[in-house]
Amino acid sequence: MAQLKLFLSIIFSFIFITAVESIGADQKSYCPSEITKVVFLGTGTPNPDPQHSGNSVAVVVNNTPYIIDFGPGLIRKAAALSPRYGGKIPGLETKNIKRAFLTHLHSDHTTGYPDLIFTPWVMGRDEPLEVYGPEGIKAMTQHILEAYKEDIRVRLYGLEPANNRGWRVNAHEIKEGTIYKDENVSVEAFLVEHGSWPEAYGFIFTTPDRTVAVSGDTRPGKNLVEKCKNVDILVHEVYSHEKLKERTPFWQKYHPQFHTSTHELAEIAGQVKPGLLILYHQLYWGVSDEELVKEITDRYKGKVVSAKDLDVY
Ligand SMILES: [Zn+2]
Ligand SMILES: [Zn+2]
Repeated sequence: MAQLKLFLSIIFSFIFITAVESIGADQKSYCPSEITKVVFLGTGTPNPDPQHSGNSVAVVVNNTPYIIDFGPGLIRKAAALSPRYGGKIPGLETKNIKRAFLTHLHSDHTTGYPDLIFTPWVMGRDEPLEVYGPEGIKAMTQHILEAYKEDIRVRLYGLEPANNRGWRVNAHEIKEGTIYKDENVSVEAFLVEHGSWPEAYGFIFTTPDRTVAVSGDTRPGKNLVEKCKNVDILVHEVYSHEKLKERTPFWQKYHPQFHTSTHELAEIAGQVKPGLLILYHQLYWGVSDEELVKEITDRYKGKVVSAKDLDVY
């Protein structure tokens, strides 16, 4: 009898484990990490909504920050999470911001660029900023430095103590593939389709314990689905499918060319199967975060959250 019980319990646990594995076989699960943090410095759009600061994400690995996109307000939001201002992420102290990646040159992703160049320098960054982005980032960088040349001159040769390295920028124009590597991360750029922009990228960060993909601004396309398969975290832009109907005919034509609806994102997520899908750069047009998420979870069964400014995953 005892032998029969043991035999049956082995059989049952085998069936149970097999069932659990088959449910989760192609869907990763999300677990928090001490090593790699995905930090939302700003989730906003061109609309100057005070609750959603300019678009910017930091992937912080072993307390080293890597910035993606430079929407207005990013440095102050990063400071809010640093110990100096009561936060818990020492890596986000302003002078530590030294590496940054740009998806494309739209102004809502770049009007924080002078802040990214100069504020960390003024706060003590003692080495050049390294920036990686599409063609045009070199020219934009040169023009910003030219525009601020009087500030640079006065800080260097006036009474303020400033080093002669931290204001400098090494701008790198990228192509698809691995664009950056160090002891914490390897960064892969992939092309996305963003309306009339000739060049727009998404990025995949591979860290010691996570893969994190950031869509940038994009309409649905095959490349993102292929490149991002089974990442731990997919950070993706989105607009409300339900509310698009209420937009003017002009905007109803624009959005599907440049961006991704909730229904389209549900389909994308169903193919990518990320451990966690995080919505950012959200166009709500009056719906709540919960309603936006529901437009997706009605059609996609994985885990979905809608990011707010200063959220950490
Ligand atoms: Zn854009
Ligand atoms: Zn944008």
